[in-house]
Amino acid sequence: AHLARIEAVDEKVHAFLHVDREGALAQARAVDAKRERGEKLGPLAGVPLALKDIFTTEGIPTTVGSKILEGWIPPYDATVTQRLKAADVVILGKTNMDEFAMGSSTENSAYGPTGNPWDLTRIPGGSGGGSSASLASYQAPLAIGTDTGGSIRQPAAVTGTVGVKPTYGAVSRYGMVAFSSSLDQGGPCARTVLDAALLHEAIAGHDPLDSTSIDAPVPPVVEAARSGSVAGMRVGVVKEFAGEGYQAGVVQRFNEAVELLKELGAEVVEISCPSFDKALAAYYLIAPSECSSNLARFDAMRYGLRVGDDGTRSAEDVTALTREAGFGDEVKRRIMLGTYALSSGYYDAYYGSAQKVRTLITQDFEKAFEQVDVLVSPTTPTTAFPIGERADDPMAMYLADLCTIPTNLAGNAAMSLPCGLAPEDGLPVGLQIIAPATKDERLYKVGAAVE
Ligand code: GLN
Repeated sequence: AHLARIEAVDEKVHAFLHVDREGALAQARAVDAKRERGEKLGPLAGVPLALKDIFTTEGIPTTVGSKILEGWIPPYDATVTQRLKAADVVILGKTNMDEFAMGSSTENSAYGPTGNPWDLTRIPGGSGGGSSASLASYQAPLAIGTDTGGSIRQPAAVTGTVGVKPTYGAVSRYGMVAFSSSLDQGGPCARTVLDAALLHEAIAGHDPLDSTSIDAPVPPVVEAARSGSVAGMRVGVVKEFAGEGYQAGVVQRFNEAVELLKELGAEVVEISCPSFDKALAAYYLIAPSECSSNLARFDAMRYGLRVGDDGTRSAEDVTALTREAGFGDEVKRRIMLGTYALSSGYYDAYYGSAQKVRTLITQDFEKAFEQVDVLVSPTTPTTAFPIGERADDPMAMYLADLCTIPTNLAGNAAMSLPCGLAPEDGLPVGLQIIAPATKDERLYKVGAAVE
C-alpha cells in the first residue's frame, strides 16, 4: 500500500531520491515467512520506513543529496540501517535532503527540491525535508532524519509531524555521512509521539563503532510516551525565543500550548538563556569548520564522481575539478568559511571564540535545568516559506534554525511536535520541547501529554 502511495504522489512531492521497490517487497516477504515459521519477530516487524539518504545502505545508492556521490553504492550498512533491519523494519527507500545536510529547505539538494505536502509551492524544511514530507504525505509511517542544527525538528515543525533529536551520542553515527561530527545526531521522525518513541528505542543504544556513542541503557522513551503527563512538572519558557521575526500565528499557537501545559498541571516559569543570541554565530563557525575537514575525504579517488581523469592530469587537478563540479554552492561556501576559520592565525579568533560561546550556551542550559524539568519554545520562528524565497539569501535561510541550534551546541535532547495551524496561512506550527542530556524520556512524557 505504501509503495502504491509513493507511485501515486511522489512525482509531485519528490520526497524520495531512490525507492527500493524490490528490496522493500523482499523484506516484507521475509517478515511474513518468519511469522509463518513462528520465529520471533523484531519490535517493528513489517512497518515501512523512509530513510534519509545520509545513512549508508549496502547495495543501495547513498548520495547525501550531492552529485559528488552520484553512482556510489556503499559496501556496508550504517549502524542505524543495521538496527532497522534487525527490528524487521521494511525500508522503502532513501529520502531527499539538502546536500550534505546543509540547509533548511531541501532546496540545496543536487536532485531538485521537495514540496511541502501542505502546499507544494512551499518548502518542507531541511535538511531532512524528504523524510518529513514522506510522513506528511502518508508515503511512510516512520522516517529517519539527522539533526546538526535543526534538520529533524524544523522539517517536522513545518510539515506538522513529530521529530526528535536525541541526546548527542544516543544514536550511532557509524555510516552516517559526517557533516559536523560534534553536532550531528540521527533520530526518529513519525506522525505521533508514541511512534517516534518506538523508533527511537529501535535505533538508539551503545555502538562500539562510534567513539562518541553513549555507553548506558536507552532511556525509557516508550514507557514515557505511553504514560504522557505533565502533572507536577516544571516547564520553562525560553524568554529569548520571542520578538522580532516571530510570526504572529506561531506565537499564538505556542502561547496556547503553554496554556494547555498549565491546564494539565505543569508549573510554568519564564527562563532566561542570555547566551542563546550568540548561538547562530557560533554554529556558523563550528559547523563549517568541521565540515571543511570532514568533506576533505571527497577527493575523487575514493568514492563516486571523478572528473577530468583523462590520463594527462595530476591527481591534484582531478581532485580539484571533481570538487568544483561535484559540490553545490552552499557546500562550497561552508568549506571556504571553515577552511578560513581554521587557518593558522585565525583559529583562536574564530573557532576558539565559537567554542567558548558553546560553553556559555551549555551553562545556560545547566542553570535552566536546575530550575525546570524541560524547556519549551516555538520550533521555528515562521511556518513553511515559499520555495525560492530564501534560496539566494543564506542569512535568511540560517534564521530558520534560531530556536533549534542551541540544543545541538550543548548536546542535549529536543523534540518538535505539532501544536496547531497558524491562523494567517493555515500551515502547521511546531512546539519544541527541550530536555537535559540523557533525559530524552522527558520529551516523550510531555509530548504525549500535549499531543
Ligand atoms: N539548517 C542548518 C544548517 O544548514 C542545520 C542543518 C542540519 O541540522 N543538518 O546547517
